[in-house]
Formats: sequence, structure tokens, C-alpha cells
Amino acid sequence: MTAEHPEKLLSPVLSDSWDDDRPWTLDTYRRHDGYKGLHEALRMDPDAVIALVKDAGLRGRGGAGFPTGMKWQFIPQGDGKPHYLVVNADESEPGTCKDIPLLFANPHSLIEGMIIASYAIRCSHAFIYLRGETVPVLRRLHAAVAEAYAAGYLGKDVLGSGFDLDITVHAGAGAYICGEETALLDSLEGRRGQPRLRPPFPAIAGLYACPTVVNNVESIASVPSILHRGKEWFRSMGSEKSPGFTLYSLSGHVTNPGQYEAPLGITLRQLLEITGGVREGHRLKFWTPGGSSTPMFTEEHLDVALDYEGVGAAGSMLGTKALQIFDETTCVVRAVTRWTEFYAHESCGKCTPCREGTYWLVQLLRRIEAGKGVEGDLEKLNDIADNINGKSFCALGDGAASPIFSSLQYFREEYEQHLREGRCPFDPAASTVWA
Ligand code: NAD
Ligand code: SF4
Repeated sequence: MTAEHPEKLLSPVLSDSWDDDRPWTLDTYRRHDGYKGLHEALRMDPDAVIALVKDAGLRGRGGAGFPTGMKWQFIPQGDGKPHYLVVNADESEPGTCKDIPLLFANPHSLIEGMIIASYAIRCSHAFIYLRGETVPVLRRLHAAVAEAYAAGYLGKDVLGSGFDLDITVHAGAGAYICGEETALLDSLEGRRGQPRLRPPFPAIAGLYACPTVVNNVESIASVPSILHRGKEWFRSMGSEKSPGFTLYSLSGHVTNPGQYEAPLGITLRQLLEITGGVREGHRLKFWTPGGSSTPMFTEEHLDVALDYEGVGAAGSMLGTKALQIFDETTCVVRAVTRWTEFYAHESCGKCTPCREGTYWLVQLLRRIEAGKGVEGDLEKLNDIADNINGKSFCALGDGAASPIFSSLQYFREEYEQHLREGRCPFDPAASTVWA
């Protein structure tokens, strides 16, 4: 990576065509080598496609970073059951805004990736589960799927290969928990979306109890370029364990918020240099590497490599690469209260630690933020978070506890100041992110 030409750190692949005229059309996508990866895949044996994606080292971009090729390999072959591919497009982690822009600008990258993945795992019916509120994206996806059918990429005998595939686009009703893969499957089956016990993982018993791959939008959309340009090209970016490129979502107190595509391992300092930095006249106070569920970082983490290992070693998680930036005008207690209100609202209610715990966290945080906290409140806050973390049924509970722990770790003095002074020491009007 070169500091002399910082813009060279960006690596547009998925976002390559976003500034073109009508980038969402099949014509534009084909001008950018669209569907060449599919032609390549159909010349290969399905198992060779899985091996290629595995060797390229692509890791899931939905947050957990699970190896994509390995997940495909888990699908039992010759079992006589239908296999399904379900794309998780229910993006809703606070700060995360990469899949929706990707679908809006470049829906064919997802469709091509889905055809390749379905061919590899021997699936003839694939689904896209999209956030229902994003109606313009829904329309665009429907139009792109129709274009793909008309061009012979979908339906019977895809491009004369003998392989059949249908894609169904399904709009969810807007619940954060339906982004959890098993709650998503329940919702897709027509039930109330609540997490299922894992194992069995969806690879063994997923949609309609059949072997199912659930992948994030960005993961699947990254596959065509690997087929077209090869695993060495993909591995030439990023690191040994976190190869390739990815979309980082920059938001909050920055000069130029947006989606920036760069090799894994770039640092926040480099990204800020390229994109105009923290808003003028202000300095960084705290930030999230991967959405509000990932432990927050401070200025001291500006040079942490933004890949799975780098962020993990520094005590957080890469998550969805949602870089939410907060400057010195932000009250950390207020920020954490706002996130916790979100988790309490979105808790599905299935398990007690999360259902009850998030409610009590909100009560305590509101009291502290308003300057009405009493001695012992911080210990209580930590205790409640501790009784949620690792004791809840799904990752939502851990995600709710995470900002409590990390904010107490880095900003305990700010909490204590609220208790001492009996008021919030910040001017809410100065921090534009909460306006
Ligand atoms: P996980 O690590 O439990 O699983 C990751 C994936 O690997 C799943 O698809 C799972 O089925 C599969 N898997 C794991 N072990 C397996 C095994 N032994 N056999 C077969 N398959 C296996 O993570 P998770 O609970 O699915 O997701 C948590 C992540 O979701 C968090 O890291 C968070 O960042 C992210 N998240 C994302 C959003 C968003 O809007 N994109 C929202 C909330 C949370
Ligand atoms: Fe539902 Fe929360 Fe329990 Fe997950 S942790 S199952 S969201 S109550």
C-alpha cells in the first residue's frame, strides 16, 4: 500500500460501474465483464467451482467471516433432497449500508453470483430475502431478475448447460432479527421470524428442513470476479487469512460518508486520508469497526488493519465493516443509549436474558444520561450486560452487551462525570449525528 498515492488503496470491483449511466442494467453490467464468470463456471465441474472459491479464500461478508467455499462444501451431495441457496439481503445492523447500495447500483453481480453458487451446490431454486422497506431496491431486483430470465441466464437450461435455476425475490417485513439466518428461514417459510437452535446448521437442515446455503449479498456478488479473474488475482489483495477486496461503509462525523471498496487490511487512518477525514475542525473520539454490535474503538486504533485477524487481535470484530465515526462533540453515554434502545426494540423476546436484560439496560442508561444516575449504577450496568453476554439464544444479545462493555472500558470517566455532575456534560445540538 502506498502513502504517496492514497487513492490507489481503493480497489473498485463491485463498485466499478456505480458511476456509469444506468449501472443496474444488463447492458452496463456486460460492458464491465458481467456474466463472464458464469460462462467460466459452467465449463467447470460443480465441485471444481467450490474448490476454486475455497482456494481463493473468500470469507462471508455478512459479519462472521465464515469461509464461503467451505460453507458450500458442507451441502451433502447425492442425498436426494432439494438444495437451496438463500441470499441474506436483510441488512439492518446500525451503521451498515453496503448491501442495499450494491443491490441498487449493481443487482446483476448478485444474480450472476447466485447462478454460479446454485450450480456449484446443485440448487435449482434460490431466494433473495430483502428488507421490505427498501421498495426501490425491490423493484430494481425484480427488473434485473426479469432481464436475466429473458437473456437465458435463468430458467430452464441456463445458457444451454442443462442446468435449471429459478430465483424468487422475497420482501421481509422489517425486523432486525430476520437477518439472523435461521429466523430469516422461518420468516421465509411463512412463520414468525425467531432464531432456531443451531446445530443443525442450515447446511444440513435449512429451508423446509433441506440443505441450504445462506450467504450475504456482498459474499455472493464477489464470486463472479473470482471465476473470471482467478484465485491468484483475488489473493493478490488483502492478507493470507483475509484475502480480497470489500466494501467499507463510512458514516457519522466524516467529510465524505459513503461506501468505499478497498483491500481487506486497510486502516481507518488510510481510509480517512483518502476520503477527506473527520469533519473539519473536529477530532475522532470513538468509532465502530463493524457496526454497533462490535466493540468500539478509539483514536489509538487508527492503525489497526481492518481485516478479521487485525480487528480481532485489537479486541473487536470486523463485522459488517460499518465504520461509524464519532467526534469529540458526541456523548458516549447517549450513543450507547441510542444503540441499546434499538436492541431492546428489536429483541425477538424468545429468551429471557436478552428480552428482559435489554429493557433494563435502557432504563439504566436513560437515567444515567439524564444525570439521574445513582452510585452503583455502573456496576449494575456491567452486571446486566454480563448476564446477557454469552447467555442469550442468538448473537443479538451479545451484540447488545458489546457497546456497554467497550464504552465502560474506554470511557468510564465520562459515565462517572454524568453521575458526579448530575447532568449530561454535552450539548446534544453540537453532535449532528443524533439530530
Ligand atoms: P456464526 O459465526 O455462528 O455463523 C456464520 C455462518 O457460518 C452461518 O451461516 C453458519 O450457518 C455457518 N456455520 C458456522 N459454523 C458452522 C458449522 N459447524 N457447520 C455449518 N455451518 C456453520 O455467525 P452468525 O450468528 O450467523 O452471525 C453473526 C454475525 O452477524 C456477527 O458477526 C454480526 O457482525 C453479523 N450481523 C450482521 C448484520 C447485518 O446487517 N449484515 C446484522 C447483525 C449481525
Ligand atoms: Fe430473541 Fe434476543 Fe434471544 Fe436472540 S438473543 S433469541 S433476539 S430474545
